Formats: sequence, C-alpha cells, structure tokens
Amino acid sequence: MITVMKFGGTSVGSAEAIQRVANIIINTEGDKVVVASAMSGITNFLVGVVDNPTKDVDAIVEQFANKHLMAAEQMFDGEIMAEFRKEFDIRLEKFKEALQENPGDPYYKDLITSQGERFSTLMLAFYLKKMGHEAVALTAETAGICAVGLPLSGSADLIATENGMSMKVAPVLDKGIIPVITGFYGIKDGVPLTFGRGGSDYSAAVVANALNADMLEIWTDVDGFMTSDPRFIKSAIKIDEMTFGEAAELAYFGAKVLHPRTIEPVRVKHIPLKVRNSFKPQEPGTLIHNIKKKGKSLLKSVATKNDLAIITVSSAELAYRPEMMAAIIGKIAESNIIIYSISTSLSTIAMVIDNADVSTVIKKLNELSGKNIERIDVNNNVSLVCCVGDDLLSKCGVSGDIFTAVKEAGANVEMISEGASDVCLNFIVPMDKVMDVVGALHDKYIG
Ligand code: ASP
Ligand code: MG
Repeated sequence: MITVMKFGGTSVGSAEAIQRVANIIINTEGDKVVVASAMSGITNFLVGVVDNPTKDVDAIVEQFANKHLMAAEQMFDGEIMAEFRKEFDIRLEKFKEALQENPGDPYYKDLITSQGERFSTLMLAFYLKKMGHEAVALTAETAGICAVGLPLSGSADLIATENGMSMKVAPVLDKGIIPVITGFYGIKDGVPLTFGRGGSDYSAAVVANALNADMLEIWTDVDGFMTSDPRFIKSAIKIDEMTFGEAAELAYFGAKVLHPRTIEPVRVKHIPLKVRNSFKPQEPGTLIHNIKKKGKSLLKSVATKNDLAIITVSSAELAYRPEMMAAIIGKIAESNIIIYSISTSLSTIAMVIDNADVSTVIKKLNELSGKNIERIDVNNNVSLVCCVGDDLLSKCGVSGDIFTAVKEAGANVEMISEGASDVCLNFIVPMDKVMDVVGALHDKYIG
C-alpha cells in the first residue's frame, strides 16, 4: 500500500509544524511518499526577489537562509545538525548561483521561485531521520518529475514522469526509505518549470499517478471541502465524500481547498484522494473517489468566484461564420487567458474572464478589427456562482428551483451555463449580490 502525502506551506511553516507533520507521516501505515511545498511566505519572498531585482545577492541569500535556519536550530543539534548544514549549504550555494543567472531568460522566474521547496523538504527529511526513520530529500530533478509547457504554467509529462520515478523513487521505497519530494515544479530540458502558484497539490497527484499509489492525501489547514465558504456562510459544514467530477468543478470555480489540477492525474488511475487537516489529524477529512452516493439535498456545495467580467463581442451573423468565432477565441488563447464560461447567439458571443484580463483581451481582439467586429461590451465586477450536486441534468425542475432562490435574493442573473456538466450549474450575478445568492441557495437546498 503506497500513500502519497502532500503538506502545504503552513504545514511545514515552522519547526513546530514540521514536527507535527512528521508525526502524521510516521503514524501512517504502509509505504509513504511525501511531497511538500515551501515554508509559508517563502515563495512570495522569491517572487518579490524576481519582481524587484536588487544587486545585493548576499542579502537575499542571508534573509532566505535565516528563515530556514531559525526553524532548523529548534529541531537539530550536534551531529545531525552538522550533517544537515552540509546539505543545506550545498543547496544554498546553488540558490546563489541561480540568482546570478540571466534574469532575461524566460525560465528565470521558474528557477528562482522553485527554490523554497528544496529547503522545506530537506528539513522534513532530516526531522524524520532524527526520529529514527529512514528518509531522503529528493528534488524534482533527482525524483524524475518531467514537465512540459510555457514558463510559470507547466504541466507534468505523466509518461516520462512515470518512467523517471520508477527508476529513481521506486527503489528508494523498496528499501523502506521515505522519499520527501519537492512540490511545485518539474524539469523541462534540464531546467525547472513551475506548475503555477499553489501547484504542489498537482505535483503530489502527479507523483501518485507515477507510482500507481493506492491513496493521495492532501494535508492542509482546513477540514476538507465545505458546503460553502465558512467565512461567509455560518451554517457551512464539511462534505464527507464527493466524486472526482464534483470536486474538480468546485476546485476550479472557487473552493480554495485544492488546486483545481490535482484531480486529473489521480482520476485517470482511479486513485482515491483525501483532503485532511494537519492541525486535526484525528479528523477523516473529505474523501474524493469514483463512487457516487446519492445525497438527500438538491445541492452538495455552492462556491463562488469573484472579480470576473463578461466580455461580449458583437459581429454580424457570427453563428454563420464559425471561422470568426474561432478567430475570437484564438486571439484570447494567444495570451493564455482562461475563459470560465461562454454563451452565444446569432451575432454575439459572451465570455467570462478575470477582471484583470479585460484590457489584454480587448487589445488582442482589436487586432481582428479588419474582420468586422461591430462592438465589444464589458460588464465588470460580476461573480460566478457554481452549484454542485449529483445528476443535476437529469432531474426535472432543478434550474427552476435554483433560480427561484436567486430571484428571492433579489439578484439579476447576467449569464447562465448549464448542460455542459451533469454535476454543476453555473451562473453569473453582480458581485455585490453574490453572498445573498449563496446564502439563499445554502439555506434552501443544503442546510
Ligand atoms: N510554494 C508554491 C506556492 O506558494 C507551491 C505551493 O505552495 O503549492 O505557490
Ligand atoms: Mg496550497
């Protein structure tokens, strides 16, 4: 039985947190493979280093080293500290060299921002050793995690990673050693490529896929998936079980508990996933798997995504000109911008994007002006409401029920997406009404 266990930034954010996590690891049965994020705050610090460059490399290295050494000094002394310092200093020297690479290189930011994971995993592996368990700190390089894609938004090459890990990590496991592997990035053409912010969850799913694990556990600082955001909906409760499809939609459309890309690598191999709280290891968390259990209520969860905009492009008889439709979407894709939802009519296409992407999208669409775009309208500051439940498409009256509650909350529905997935129904409302809508839906169909 192989369990891949992922710990996020707060779970490895201090000596105390690392000790707590180490206990969780050693109390887990069977073979364990650990994937960890950087200590909390470290990746943000590294992003700052790249965005506001200074010449004082030594000061950066010192600040970075101190944060880690402060925690290490609380955990290690004597011989184990000397051994730790040896490996720590090798990594620190490499970090210093990395800082002096060419900042104009498209992969420079990936190289710098992926440094934190190399140090958190070293501390965790050494603490496991101190507790008398054989452990080794591996990096994406030494574990064989391979990446493809553009800077700052890589994806794993699952086949190459499976081949790499079966050579590099499986033998370690066979010897009863616990591998502690860096999350957040893989290797493309010999250099680090990160999987996007928060990407360590995805790394862990990739590792589970590559090792054909029996279970993936994502250890975080909340109890699991909730029926809604507990900061706003006081009656929100934890969800015990969900399907991969339900969890994927919720993670994508707003629930911050899991990186949305975590589901796919485990879903394809039917590896169950648990979201658990490292501050409450006695709690079972949320189990995500293939098995569909009929719930009593209409909805299982309601999530929201704020700070969105609807961008509506008008072009005569667009529906009869599929090449124009493709050109519009193609222009947006050129800037790697996510479209959350689309709705079309004879002469218009409306798309939901992040508010922050509006000016880029307009600039891109203006490149098409020769191809007769008549108008572009923008409706800023809207929110997407994502309602998740089982078999929403096959039950009669679901939309009637949902939109009755929205009407009672006094919100105008600006756009609807239904029918694409049988586990979710999404719609757009003005941002200042979104919490009233979620409250009404939660009270009526979940609480
Ligand atoms: N350390 C990275 C970040 O802060 C990856 C992660 O935490 O998942 O984005
Ligand atoms: Mg995270």
